Amino acid sequence: MMIRGEIMKKLLVTLITVVFVMFISEITIASNYKGIVDPYQPITYDTMKETVARLKEQFPELIETEIIGQSADERDIVLVKLGKGDTLIHINGSFHARERITTNIILKNIEDYSNAYEKNTKIQGYDVKNLLDQVTIYFVPMVNPDGVDYTILGEESIKSPILRVAFEKIVEHPKSEWHTPDLRWKSNIRGVDLNRQWDFGWHEESKLDIDAPADAYFKGFKPHSEPEVLTMEKLSLYNPFLIYAAYHTQGLEIYWYKYQQGDDLEEVQDITKKISNLTFFRPVPALNDIPQNFRSYSGYADWTAVELKKPSFTMEFAYRKYSEEDFDKIYEPAKALGLLFAEEALNIKEGYDVEVIINGELIQLFKTYDDGLAFIEKYITDDMDVQMVKNQEIIYQREGKPYHDNVEVTIIKDNESIKYSEEVLRYKGAVLLPIDKVFSNFDMKLHHYNQLNLILAEDNKTLVLMGLNDGSIYVNHEKIDATKGVLKYQDNIYISTTAIEKIFWCKTNN
Ligand SMILES: [Zn+2]
Repeated sequence: MMIRGEIMKKLLVTLITVVFVMFISEITIASNYKGIVDPYQPITYDTMKETVARLKEQFPELIETEIIGQSADERDIVLVKLGKGDTLIHINGSFHARERITTNIILKNIEDYSNAYEKNTKIQGYDVKNLLDQVTIYFVPMVNPDGVDYTILGEESIKSPILRVAFEKIVEHPKSEWHTPDLRWKSNIRGVDLNRQWDFGWHEESKLDIDAPADAYFKGFKPHSEPEVLTMEKLSLYNPFLIYAAYHTQGLEIYWYKYQQGDDLEEVQDITKKISNLTFFRPVPALNDIPQNFRSYSGYADWTAVELKKPSFTMEFAYRKYSEEDFDKIYEPAKALGLLFAEEALNIKEGYDVEVIINGELIQLFKTYDDGLAFIEKYITDDMDVQMVKNQEIIYQREGKPYHDNVEVTIIKDNESIKYSEEVLRYKGAVLLPIDKVFSNFDMKLHHYNQLNLILAEDNKTLVLMGLNDGSIYVNHEKIDATKGVLKYQDNIYISTTAIEKIFWCKTNN
């Protein structure tokens, strides 16, 4: 009995010691970690949003955030602007769901760069304060939030019942080798691979092609069909970025070559060499040995480089099997990369001196008049005021004019739904409808006060006052924030959908 009691006592002491040591080490881990970003955990959409909000709170002078669009399952796509400069570059992460650690990389970058800026310290030799005073980095930490949440939280994370039904069909018939969702799922939640969706070489056939929504490789039924791609397209078209970078994790590689020639080729080779020196990653193709038949199609970097004529990189930060616990190793080459891009943007800036200005706002930079004109003709609709400016001199100008466009607008009031299409007008980015059709369709009376240039629409619940002089609109005495809210064109008076949205339920389909 004695011996047995001794053993029990020893066991108990050991047990207490073990628990105590575990407790202490838990405390040490917790106290070592003082940052806002915890990169050693999978970062869900909610955690990303929370982290971004905390970063902004901590560094209000340096960080601005914006919601630039929504995913298929209605999660926000968040843009974080870091820096104070007017030279812009763009970096994004988590185009591919299972490569979600790129979100951790970007959030950690934002925190590290902000800290270094405030304390005026360097990161791997880069003078962060000097760079971020001249350059602003536009980060999109999570392009594919629905896909990321699925890899972490499983099918329960899908909010829309319709999407969930469609999703179950995809999972029942996996198109590629199926392991766990965590390992396999690359696509958005509708089963479209967001990095095979882009309208450059989209129609070319590839060995990886798949003919239906899947965990990976399905390029969509048409290019730019997915809301995440449309959001990234808009961001890329209407901001004067000098360098684009998409962060992925499928190898330790730099995809850099996008058919550039002459000076453009030298420029991108030079930057790639520097990236390779910093990261030790392998350029694909090899820098000075580009195969004649090298092809790269339908990725974000392909489209941005070819359509917007700037260096655009796909960075692959890891081999397939890794977890968030390996973060430090994966982060090492990524740590200063954003700063390298910022410095390179300043280096190449001078060459991009043709400014494209839409409705008074600088939206793109090009090297030549021809590049600028090709962009305007392809991407800028006739309703916009456009200028090209070089050395403060206007070298091209086009006045925007209202035009009828083939968009469909649906308005619903009291369960009554009406569609408009032929009569829809576009002007300077606004979509407008003729007021007589809109208000009479919903039994609202119109009164024209011609001498005052005022129009009144009313029923027993709503009073809408429209001023033709300045285009202002008041709904129940409250001023609506809508530029070009009301517009007289030919014999009709038009009201913008931005204003209509304040009166009825209204949806525009482009
Ligand atoms: Zn990828």
